[in-house]
Formats: sequence, structure tokens, C-alpha cells
Amino acid sequence: MPQITGTTKLLGVIGNPIGHSLSPIIHNAAIEQLGLDYRYLAFPVSSADLATVLDGFAAIGLVGCSVTIPHKQTIIPLLAEITPLAKAIGAVNTIWNTPEGWKGTNTDVAGFISPLVAMGRDWSKTTVAILGNGGAARAVVAGCHQLGCGAIDVFGRDAAKLAKFKSSWQDIKLPMNGNETPMPVTIQTHLWDELSTLINQDNLLLVNSTPIGMYPQIEDSPISAATIERIGANSLAYDLIYTPRPTRFLQLAKNAGMMTIDGTEMLVQQGAVAFELWLQQPAPIEIMRQTLIQYLSS
Ligand code: NAP
Repeated sequence: MPQITGTTKLLGVIGNPIGHSLSPIIHNAAIEQLGLDYRYLAFPVSSADLATVLDGFAAIGLVGCSVTIPHKQTIIPLLAEITPLAKAIGAVNTIWNTPEGWKGTNTDVAGFISPLVAMGRDWSKTTVAILGNGGAARAVVAGCHQLGCGAIDVFGRDAAKLAKFKSSWQDIKLPMNGNETPMPVTIQTHLWDELSTLINQDNLLLVNSTPIGMYPQIEDSPISAATIERIGANSLAYDLIYTPRPTRFLQLAKNAGMMTIDGTEMLVQQGAVAFELWLQQPAPIEIMRQTLIQYLSS
């Protein structure tokens, strides 16, 4: 790592609590690899202090920042501008300092679709089943729309929250399938009980965006082995969780012959997009990935 000097610049992540964040691991590995005169730190910021912190960061010339729970939504009114994607998702996870004020975007969508884009498939015949209707599910919906998936089904356990989730997409248009013209985002929502009957098909992209199965509840799976076994082996299981690796859900999917993707790649890729925004140069993705995987397995 280059020595900290009088010219060293600052990046960081704000959230509360923040001690668990893996972003400093990933970003400082990238900074070190490129020999940049930067450091990336985690800052615990309470909701009451958010506006003061942003003013202070701007005053000391902090270049950019990741934003995590509980600030992803509440930061929006404090920003000078947000991207249409962040507006559609209703959450910002990356901000950068400009002469006009802080600007923000959401890099979770790019992070989520990155391993899917890398597969080079035509997604128009794929149905997506998204388990959960929280914050991450919004990025998954936007990502699947962007990929041009045939149908997007969202499963939740609370009818009122599901209805709110569905109506929140009603007037939203986003680019689709490489075409820059924004298209309406169309989704269907279903109660969790309908899961076993509705996901009984081939060519499915099954995404877990709930915390079910996350450490320390590592024996839990959002869907049963029997249900997973009824899904065609051509299907793909994607868990946003990155601890443990693999989750019980991905183990069951793998046993059923499905391809699996865990949450580490999304985490790395959303960080890489933010890094490139702040530093205007390609992120050393392989170092970021290896450092994260090594850290998670230590
Ligand atoms: P969130 O906003 O709290 O949403 C969680 C969703 O899961 C909600 O819809 C919740 O339903 C549902 N849920 C929770 N427990 C459930 C249960 N026992 N049965 C059925 N549904 C349940 O959380 P989030 O921010 O979306 O994050 C979700 C997961 O994605 C977390 O594990 C997080 O670590 C992971 N994630 C990973 C990345 C990455 O880069 N890999 C990025 C973002 C998130 P209710 O609303 O009804 O409670």
C-alpha cells in the first residue's frame, strides 16, 4: 500500500452498523493493486447525523462513498441528483462529490446481472422467480427487466407489502435488452404459498433475495428440497447471500442438477462499478474477487 501522506484521498462507506461491511476489504485491495494514493474507510453514521456528515465529507473533499442500511432511501432528498435507475429502485448505494453537490446511483443492478450477462444467453424465454420483496429484490427486478427476461414473478409472505411492491413499478420505464428506449417494467406478484405450484417449470431463473439461509441460520433454505427437485435441470439458482458459500439453497439446487451463482460476484461487481465511477479507471476485478473470497473463507 502506498504510504499515507498529506495528499492521500479518501473514499468510504456509510451505514449503521457498519463494522460488518466487506467493502473496505474489496476497495483497499483494488487501491493497493493499482498503487493509488487513496484509502477506503467504514464510517458509522446515525440517521440523525446523515446530512451533517455529507456536508462535512464535501467540505474535506471526500471523493465518493458507498451507502448502506439504513441510509439507502433516506439519503435521496439530500442529493443534488440521482440516476433514473436509482430513482426506479428507490435506493442509492453509491454517491460521488461534484461541484453541484452529491450525486447518487445504484450499482446493485449492474452487480446482480454481471454473472448472468457473462453467460451470453438469450433471457427472453426465461421466467424469473424472485423470492422476497425487499430492497435487494428491487435491484433484481430492474436487472431482470434489463436482461429482457420473459416474465418476472415476485414471491412474498405479506399480501400488503406485495401489493405495494407491485404498484411501485406501475409507472416505471427502464431500458431493456440493450435498447436504450425505456420500456415499462412488468411484474407479477404471488404469495409464498403459490411457490411450489408456480415454479414447477423448466428454464427458470430462481433468485433468493431473502436472508433465509444466511449465517448463522445456515441450515435454512427458502424452498424445500422437494420443490427444488421439481424444477428442470436447465434452470439456474442464484442466491444473493454470500455467507455461507454455498448456502443450503444452492446446495439443494446443485444436487438437483441446476447451475448455481452465489452473492459474492454481485458484491464484487457492484463495488467495481462504484470504484470506476469514483476513480475513472478500470477496477482490478480479479484482485477484488480473490481478496473477498479469501477473506470469506478465512
Ligand atoms: P430486506 O429489504 O430486509 O428484504 C428481505 C426480504 O426477505 C423481505 O421481502 C422479507 O419479507 C423477506 N423475508 C425475510 N425473512 C423471510 C422469511 N423467513 N420468509 C419469507 N420471507 C422472508 O433485505 P435486502 O436488503 O433485500 O437483502 C436481502 C438479502 O440479500 C440479504 O441476505 C442480503 O445480505 C442480500 N444482499 C446481497 C447483496 C450482494 O451484493 N450479494 C446485495 C444486497 C443484498 P417481509 O418484508 O415480509 O419481512
